[in-house]
Amino acid sequence: MYPDHRPLTGRVLVRMPTTRDSERTAELLREVGIATTICANLAELCRALRGDADGVIMTDDLMATDTSGQLAEAVRAQPGWSSMPFIVVTREGAAQKVQQTSTEVLRNVVVIERPVRPRSLVSVALSALRGRVHQYEIRDAIILHQQQATESRRLHEALQSSQDELARQAAQLRSNDRRKDDFLATLAHELRNPLAPIRTGMELLYSSTQRAADRPTLAIMRRQLSHLVRLIDDLLDISRINQGKLELRREPVTLAAIIASATEATRPLVDAAGHALCIVVDDPDLVIHADPTRASQVVANLLHNACKYTAPGGHIELYAGSAGEQVLIRVTDDGIGIPPDRIDRIFEMFNQVDSAIARSQGGLGIGLALVRRLVEMHHGTVTAESAGADAGSTFTVRLPIGAAAERRLSASPPPPARAAAGESVLVVDDNVDAADLLCQMLEQAGYSAVAAYDSESALAEVARRDHAIVILDIGLPGKNGYEVAREVRSMANREDVALIALTGWGSAEDKRKARSAGFDVHLTKPIDPAVLQEVVADMARRRTERALDRHR
Ligand code: ADP
Repeated sequence: MYPDHRPLTGRVLVRMPTTRDSERTAELLREVGIATTICANLAELCRALRGDADGVIMTDDLMATDTSGQLAEAVRAQPGWSSMPFIVVTREGAAQKVQQTSTEVLRNVVVIERPVRPRSLVSVALSALRGRVHQYEIRDAIILHQQQATESRRLHEALQSSQDELARQAAQLRSNDRRKDDFLATLAHELRNPLAPIRTGMELLYSSTQRAADRPTLAIMRRQLSHLVRLIDDLLDISRINQGKLELRREPVTLAAIIASATEATRPLVDAAGHALCIVVDDPDLVIHADPTRASQVVANLLHNACKYTAPGGHIELYAGSAGEQVLIRVTDDGIGIPPDRIDRIFEMFNQVDSAIARSQGGLGIGLALVRRLVEMHHGTVTAESAGADAGSTFTVRLPIGAAAERRLSASPPPPARAAAGESVLVVDDNVDAADLLCQMLEQAGYSAVAAYDSESALAEVARRDHAIVILDIGLPGKNGYEVAREVRSMANREDVALIALTGWGSAEDKRKARSAGFDVHLTKPIDPAVLQEVVADMARRRTERALDRHR
């Protein structure tokens, strides 16, 4: 309707009282290049106003004929940016009055009195058209602004919807990740249960076999089994850390103790591969504030990797000492090394360097992720260095010594646990194999052990005989281990029985529940048989000491 680009000389509608007047006026305008449309009457003029008009020349009598307000309606129908210029010719002396009445209806009005000089009319028309050009500029600016506003609204909506999509995907990933952690935790827990009796059985076989020929086979099975247990433990630990369920139990511990327990755990692997392990502990009495089990797990994992990723007969060095306010533990090997482009990523979960030896030796790819998480939980750092393939690797752990730590532990170590021969132990587990094997192991260690496979017979057994120690599984059908423990604690004459929870669940919450149910000790499956024997011996010794105290 309103073309975008118009010449300065636009189209003017002409309506004079006579056709001759109209034609003469149109002729004047045409001479200066202004296009015109002659309108025969009011209706035609109003119709043309809705077309491509840029101005109107008319006489004031036309307004008197507009009884139905057509002209006012046509002016109102103009777009917002348009202010149509009207040049109204009136009789001599009427200009002021006409100006007043016509401005109300037509808005943008110039009134010219007769007699009209042609030059004046042309110059008024040209100036009206120049004003009209500005109106077009404003219209164009409005259109541009509207287009920009529409485009920016579209971009905003697109941005909003991609943000919504990202948020949805992030929520989905978080939920998948949570489900994966839950699954890994359950998987590791379920795998641990059957491993417990297998491990106990293996220890029994290993220590009781009379046939020398069986020993090497049993030694291999024992080693592979502890490898399996370690993998599952790592898996469970990493999922517990991810779920925020792993808590450190920090205490003052010597550097020597951490290193000793880590090397003891790795010794069979070092020996099997024929590696030379050189251990240098600069300050063995240095005490740090750390979780002893977790700190030695970190060192053991690094040693374990050094063994795995070094060809048989390699050299491994373990250095531990202080460096300022930090403890520095460094494991160096002369093994397959790590390519420079992979070194930054090996601490990420499931990140393994793809090489033949790594493929044959590699585990689940979570060992170093676990190391880093455990070190960070201790507010320390771990870094890896390697000069590249076949150039060996060095892993360095730095832990803060901790304000609570002292230079030396004053208390002397507790006396070694002795088996109190003949003390009776009740083992309660619905896994019949696990219970029976544990009993066999305890019998071998000099205890009198009895098994119960459900809560009712366990309670009946406790009521029947004053056992020194009850080892209770928690996940029993019917009454669970916590309920059994509570009932035992409420029995008359059974105050002194030691209750040990032996369960696959080892979170801080599980341990709290065990304590409040009356357990003395909470152990997590699969327990190292040697550790279990230590705990049982310790419980039995304490019970004997209490009995002696009472008789004094
Ligand atoms: P895994 O040993 O189960 O594969 P880790 O998280 O312990 O998982 O180690 C991740 C990867 O880092 C390994 O697969 C191996 O490629 C590399 N790596 C770890 N320790 C060493 C080492 N001492 N020498 C060479 N490469 C190593």
